[in-house]
Amino acid sequence: MSSPEAPAVSAVSGYLGHFIDGKEVSDRERTQDVFDPASGEVRCKVGLAGKSTVLDAVAAAASAFPTWRETPPQKRAQVLFRYKQLLQENSKIICQLITAEHGKVIDDAHGELTRGIEVVDYACGISELLKGEYSKNAGPEIDSWSEFQPLGVVAGITPFNFPAMVPMWMFPMAIACGNTFILKPSERDPSPALLLGKLLTDAGLPDGVFNVINGDSDTVQYLIDDERIEAFSFVGSTPVAESIFRRCSAEGKRVQALGGAKNHAVILPDADLDNAVNALMGAAYGSCGERCMAISVVVCVGDDTADKTVALLQEKISDLKIGPGVDAANDMGPLISKDALQRVTQYINQGVAEGADLLEDGRGFSLVGHESGFFIGATLFDRVQPSMSIYRDEIFGPVLCVLRVESLGAAMKLINQHEFGNGACLFTRDGESARYFSNNVQVGMVGVNIPLPVPIASQSFGGWKRSLFGDLYVYGPDAITFYTRRKTMTQRWPTGSFTEKARYAFPSS
Ligand code: NAD
Repeated sequence: MSSPEAPAVSAVSGYLGHFIDGKEVSDRERTQDVFDPASGEVRCKVGLAGKSTVLDAVAAAASAFPTWRETPPQKRAQVLFRYKQLLQENSKIICQLITAEHGKVIDDAHGELTRGIEVVDYACGISELLKGEYSKNAGPEIDSWSEFQPLGVVAGITPFNFPAMVPMWMFPMAIACGNTFILKPSERDPSPALLLGKLLTDAGLPDGVFNVINGDSDTVQYLIDDERIEAFSFVGSTPVAESIFRRCSAEGKRVQALGGAKNHAVILPDADLDNAVNALMGAAYGSCGERCMAISVVVCVGDDTADKTVALLQEKISDLKIGPGVDAANDMGPLISKDALQRVTQYINQGVAEGADLLEDGRGFSLVGHESGFFIGATLFDRVQPSMSIYRDEIFGPVLCVLRVESLGAAMKLINQHEFGNGACLFTRDGESARYFSNNVQVGMVGVNIPLPVPIASQSFGGWKRSLFGDLYVYGPDAITFYTRRKTMTQRWPTGSFTEKARYAFPSS
């Protein structure tokens, strides 16, 4: 069992490699710096896998597949039960790694890990989930059944903003279904994924069933080019999601590609405003706005609702504690990188230039002792127009835009016309409005008086429009469909002697 103080794979050597066939592998031909966003200093270097490392990982996963495929689901589940226990025992070190490289506040890292563990928990029920379907006497002395067979080697490519949870949306279900897996986590915060892999080995997973290769877009291209990989799960920004979806589809691979978002919260005049604004604060500024389910737009119905909402938001923003994620007293940590800081700052500049009212300005935020960290303050714009770039684009930072409309219908028209369709929520005390909103809003995940309607592990997660390319959501029941192929058997075992004449009509019972 791993000691929480001593992860076998960590940045202690100043270099992070890959985890292939149960072993750490080094490939130093190309490397990239990994930063501590709170100090702005380089924490270590990560290897960017070249073609031969990718080939090694695919070979390991391909050779582990035949045995893993035949391993009974309940034996696979036993590994996952032990894994869940190891994740809980090692939660402190996993969360420390998340905070060290992503920057999010430690409580937020615990929330992320807990949501990932819930998927492991669901995957532990794989025997039940893979039971299949049976039709006795489909015809005279004919029985028919469907079973769900694993695909083979599958791959996951994940973003920086949930370095543990998003990989865990994928691999527990994929390996529970009998596949072998190659994870390509974000090169910006790679350590948690390496530790997740090490703990799977400690839990008894055979070598080669789960592999981690670090890398960039070149690494992803080598993976897509490999004919032995049957399916790709991708989570990241929309342009990359769309391109991965098209490339994988052209290669005949199964693919689901989840992209970016612009999630709206609508506030009706009858809402419990204190609770709504508290919910908005966490949803807009938690994790520095770097969540695909973050609320980045508030649509207030009526000027009176807007005036009150904005006043309450400003009051709470002045109390927001911003600082390093290791200090649990902080509410918001830094952005992931210097580039992200420049990009978010640029969007705030554009919002001002386009004529929105900048009520809270996060630009130029500086923290004594952390002057080189990638910090930015909470930003609030009022009277934002739908034509503005701060409304149209995903900023992925702590920037909240308030729009004012006259009716629920006008608020929903905005959401329904937006290119993204991940999540949306409504704050109200009126059941009829809530029902109408839930039924007609064009997004994949809806909250009513819930700001971040992230589905639990036994449901599935995904958006509509340009927030998801593909048909199936991640985790939950959709994961069974995504990571398996249905096979339907029809068999006749007649009693006694049996003769059948040639029949030329289409068979029917
Ligand atoms: P990103 O698209 O830059 O990177 C995601 C992954 O793709 C990384 O592993 C990266 O190495 C790889 N990648 C980057 N460019 C590539 C290219 N040209 N070809 C192939 N692979 C490439 O995203 P990010 O900045 O790491 O993450 C933030 C984005 O992810 C946001 O847009 C956010 O909304 C989105 N996201 C979406 C969800 C969701 O469920 N819809 C969840 C989390 C994050």
